[in-house]
Amino acid sequence: MNYNVNEKGYYGEFGGAFIPEMLYPNVEELRQNYLKVMAEPSFQEEFNQLLKDYVGRPSPLYFAKRLSEKYNTKIYLKREDLNHTGAHKINNTIGQILMAKRLGKTRIIAETGAGQHGVATATVCALMGLECIVYMGEIDIARQAPNVARMKMLGASVVPAKSGSRTLKDATNEAIRDWINNPVNTHYIIGSAIGPHPYPDMVTRFQAVISEEIKWQLKEHEGRENPDYVVACIGGGSNAAGTYYHFLHEKDVNIIAVEAAGHGVDSGESAATSVLGNEGVIHGCKTLLMQTKDGQITEPYSISAGLDYPGVGPMHAHLCKTGRAEFMAITDDDAMNAGLELCKLEGIIPAIESSHALAIFEQKSFKPDDVVVVSLSGRGDKDLQNYIDYFKI
Ligand SMILES: *Cc1c(COP(=O)(O)O)cnc(C)c1O
Repeated sequence: MNYNVNEKGYYGEFGGAFIPEMLYPNVEELRQNYLKVMAEPSFQEEFNQLLKDYVGRPSPLYFAKRLSEKYNTKIYLKREDLNHTGAHKINNTIGQILMAKRLGKTRIIAETGAGQHGVATATVCALMGLECIVYMGEIDIARQAPNVARMKMLGASVVPAKSGSRTLKDATNEAIRDWINNPVNTHYIIGSAIGPHPYPDMVTRFQAVISEEIKWQLKEHEGRENPDYVVACIGGGSNAAGTYYHFLHEKDVNIIAVEAAGHGVDSGESAATSVLGNEGVIHGCKTLLMQTKDGQITEPYSISAGLDYPGVGPMHAHLCKTGRAEFMAITDDDAMNAGLELCKLEGIIPAIESSHALAIFEQKSFKPDDVVVVSLSGRGDKDLQNYIDYFKI
């Protein structure tokens, strides 16, 4: 079984490029060039240098001693929360801004939900001196005000998406419209392992630095490169794709994908796509998608803005369909409690997205000798108000 993209842009039956004809030249230019550009030694050198000096990589692989004692297994946290801008998303935006420059682009557009990808994009645009326009749902603008302020301080224009549910999928539609209108000078930085081919593969390759580091770091800690489990939360699936990448074809490594159940999978307020979704096309790729019988996208819900997405990336749809990954759904309540537990046990305030991944230990037991690596995708500063409101701190 192959879990990587094939030359047609598919992961099994999922993926592809379902795009309006007017977008074809933009996407085709990227498809023809992305692997070639990424393989250039000068690209690799610049990418790695920036990851080291600007992002602060390698991010630590931290053995969480007290958490491990509580759950009687060996838990390691991959500390993406310590990256510059506070999450894994910067790995991808650094890669894509370098790609944009190599392709001669001068203007960058992006969509954002939680605001984290918008901040990561605005950051690299400032770094490279490129114009930056970020589309964001009006509702998300209201619930992620600090990130909106950050983007503005970094020099980006934040454009509200006022149609539909005024959240992430509407922002994405606006970004696609912009790209159609500005095909020559503009690069669209997609923030997750979604979109038309080659985006899911390109984003995955930029995020793959996560599992590349896990291998040598685990070797130092445990004397072996492969953990027994890798665990990550899934919004669109970029931190997960990066965490899994070098283990996809390692049979002794179990993969756990954690989705947001919201108020519960059967509550009507959920974002557990693998359970509630079926095959459909969203944002240019065929994947699993929450939709009505006649194909209208269902509003997802999660307390965490970063997991509040009605689809999953095509790689994850394939991992789900083939059974390569075990999918688990975690409710708001369980995630919040797991987040607070990490604060008390390890002195780390996690993003609510990452708290979903941490909550699996209450649901699934592991053997004392199992090595479980959890992607701590981001830090909780942006979620402080949510934690305060929830726990009445
Ligand atoms: C955006 C975000 C996610 C979800 O995005 P993926 O593409 O699924 O990784 C998870 N964690 C944090 C901290 C985020 O900012």
